[in-house]
Amino acid sequence: MAKRTLINKLAILADAAKYDASCASSGTSTRNSLGKDGGLGSTEGMGICHAYAPDGRCISLLKVLLTNFCIFDCRYCINRASSNVERARFTPAELVQITLDFYKRNYIEGLFLSSGIIRNADYTMEQMIEVARALREDHGFRGYIHLKSIPEADPLLIRRAGELADRLSINVELPREESLQSYAPEKSGQVIRKAMADVRLSIEDAKDARSSRILKKATPPKFAPGGQSTQMIVGADDSNDAAILDTSTKLYSGYKLRRVYYSAYSPIPDASSDLPPVKPPLMREHRLYQADWLLRFYGFETGEILANAPDGMLDLEIDPKLSWALSNRDWFPVDINKASKTLLLRVPGLGTTSVKRILSARRQTRLGLDDLSKLTTSVKKVLPFIITRDWTPGALTDAQNLRERFAPPPRQLVLL
Ligand code: SF4
Repeated sequence: MAKRTLINKLAILADAAKYDASCASSGTSTRNSLGKDGGLGSTEGMGICHAYAPDGRCISLLKVLLTNFCIFDCRYCINRASSNVERARFTPAELVQITLDFYKRNYIEGLFLSSGIIRNADYTMEQMIEVARALREDHGFRGYIHLKSIPEADPLLIRRAGELADRLSINVELPREESLQSYAPEKSGQVIRKAMADVRLSIEDAKDARSSRILKKATPPKFAPGGQSTQMIVGADDSNDAAILDTSTKLYSGYKLRRVYYSAYSPIPDASSDLPPVKPPLMREHRLYQADWLLRFYGFETGEILANAPDGMLDLEIDPKLSWALSNRDWFPVDINKASKTLLLRVPGLGTTSVKRILSARRQTRLGLDDLSKLTTSVKKVLPFIITRDWTPGALTDAQNLRERFAPPPRQLVLL
């Protein structure tokens, strides 16, 4: 067999990594200026994704697998042992070289590294650590490193990974333990949660050591200063959105996670079937992110968001805050010149930044629609729910057809 070039390997291993949702651009619709419509740019560039650094900056990362070979056979994963995909593997030295080349050319500001399991969890973790070690210690690499840790690996290896990486993540994979047993029998929810708990303790210990030092020049080692995150696959098992959000809430509080990433399950195409491939549930993934945001930053409870969803599924046509507002119209209209921050955060179309701006601006003047248009991006969405100096919605708040103003018009299904 011909030897693969580095670029061949990169094409395979960056493509294989796109199923991991722990970067902001994962799962985006594909757009490419080389297509028939022309244009500028592409979302399909090999392995570059975006993530947020601990200081809130959006950074570009080389997102890649060390290998897509795997001895495990998780049913939801395209890289599982029984999958018929092309395989490739980088040596740690090759991946270090590529990362440095991309970094020096300003293509990336860091590395997001994951891997299938080669031989066993410890061996694979050692290989990933070697990439991070060589970057940090041999080449003085100061860029961002996110390592996807293997929960079955020795805790000492995960500890070492945390000393080298800015962020660690350990995937819970599926929302329920029963689903994990059925879809990934080689994995254990208990082992995954124990590894996440260890990472949480190590992060807290490192923070405590740094804050309690007496001498400023004493510098206790850092441990994953960007925190830890996890990923849940959406749509592989039959868990509904209520179960997913419930699991997320427990994970955030139990392990002090920075993020739970939701990854729409991409069914593996069946080459022998004449049917069109099943599309991943990207809108469901998007609605879960919105609901997750409401739970963490807007003071909502899961029960409120899903109060009108007996099947425990979020509305796909409109966002969860709007859906809640339409079912709770007695809360509105809200006077933006008087309402509390808690109430303003409940208004559809007002994000945390807009609310902050409103609270600050209304100290100087009574706000009208003109002012509001400078403080928020979606005045049209806000109008039925607010009062300003020069606007009251009248009967609009209670209008029967309010939902239709926002929901996409019905479309006829395609004839197959
Ligand atoms: S261990 Fe990871 S790479 Fe291997 S089959 Fe399972 S999900 Fe895929």
